[in-house]
Amino acid sequence: MSKTVLIIGGGLSGLYLGFKLKKLGFQIKILEANDRIGGRIYTKISQQTKVELGATWLWRYNKQLLNLCKELEISLFEQNINGDALFEATSASQPQRFKLPPNQEISYRIVGGTFTIVNKLALSFSSEELHLHQKVVQIINQKKSVQVITEDAEFTADVVVSTIPPQLLVNTVKFIPKINHHLKNIANKTHTWMKDSIKFGLVYKTPFWKEKGLSGVGFSNVGPFTEIYDHTNFKNKTFALMGFLNNNLSKETKAYREEKISKQLFKFFGKEGKNYICYEEKVWHKEPLLSFNNQQFLSPHSNNGHPIYQKKYINNKLIIAGSETSPSYGGYMEGAIFRGNQVVAQLVSLQEMVS
Ligand SMILES: Cc1cc2nc3c(=O)[nH]c(=O)nc-3n(C[C@H](O)[C@H](O)[C@H](O)COP(=O)(O)OP(=O)(O)OC[C@H]3O[C@@H](n4cnc5c(N)ncnc54)[C@H](O)[C@@H]3O)c2cc1C
Repeated sequence: MSKTVLIIGGGLSGLYLGFKLKKLGFQIKILEANDRIGGRIYTKISQQTKVELGATWLWRYNKQLLNLCKELEISLFEQNINGDALFEATSASQPQRFKLPPNQEISYRIVGGTFTIVNKLALSFSSEELHLHQKVVQIINQKKSVQVITEDAEFTADVVVSTIPPQLLVNTVKFIPKINHHLKNIANKTHTWMKDSIKFGLVYKTPFWKEKGLSGVGFSNVGPFTEIYDHTNFKNKTFALMGFLNNNLSKETKAYREEKISKQLFKFFGKEGKNYICYEEKVWHKEPLLSFNNQQFLSPHSNNGHPIYQKKYINNKLIIAGSETSPSYGGYMEGAIFRGNQVVAQLVSLQEMVS
């Protein structure tokens, strides 16, 4: 009999694990709390234009992620940085135009948007295997199995793999009996990548910045946006700029942020900058399915890939996965895949021990 594996979370980690385990003959179920898959991969379609409000780039050293793209027949293209960049040093000065140095490390984007990865993975699951609107609230250790309780259903499996950020897991899911206290302690000190970020996108009719010899790249010491990039699609048919806002604007309203951005766009690009047809944003700090409101400051990536995540818990019936548990590129998409491959190997050896 193949093991039944219950996967908590339908982000890149959960979907990749389900995809690999299913291929190996495991019986799987993925429980996702949200009404969409993808987690921190969130491509919003606005005016027929895809705007990445979550993960956007990958790099040539992301070997395991690149292997997955190859397997799924997903193509990549280079982030456009052709043309001059702009830098705003102070609020009193005009942004300065400068030549970007030759690109040392090319950032790649995914043709069709980052959500192509999760959408392609999800194609392999039946409705019995991938469940949305299933927020896990409790994990109970039974004699030979493990029971997982969501807000409105119960599931039983041989093994449970959590792919939700560790800090969120130990603070929002109740364990019976209580979870190992060392694990809880480290999880509480494990940083969740980009949890406080605010991303925004602006859709335009034309790539006016290119006509001015600009790359669309801009940096600011002042804000509200601190970084901005060209977000034209692969076919060069849809035009957008995309960037990051100062995190401290998360408490303001969307209208306030947009008004401030509009003024800064005018300063950077003149009146054409303000002439966007659509504004999109995502304040990740407000996403309850990403982080737990822990006031403690954690430096980026702290405890990502801590050795404690390599262990199995509740008599080999609970495995903690997800990008932040990866010893390599923790917090990034590559980390999600790297850790996924480790967990697949762990489960295969567990299965071999049983049979
Ligand atoms: C703004 C932003 C920009 C980024 N840019 C990049 C980039 O350019 N390149 C890069 O490599 N990485 C980037 N990242 C990081 C990348 O998105 C993540 O590393 C990756 O998507 C993590 O996948 P995951 O499945 O491990 O976690 P998540 O995507 O967080 O998935 C966890 C899933 O669990 C679900 N969940 C939570 N609680 C429960 C519960 N109780 N029950 C059931 N389900 C639950 C969530 O809804 C979510 O779908 C970025 C992230 C953000 C937010």
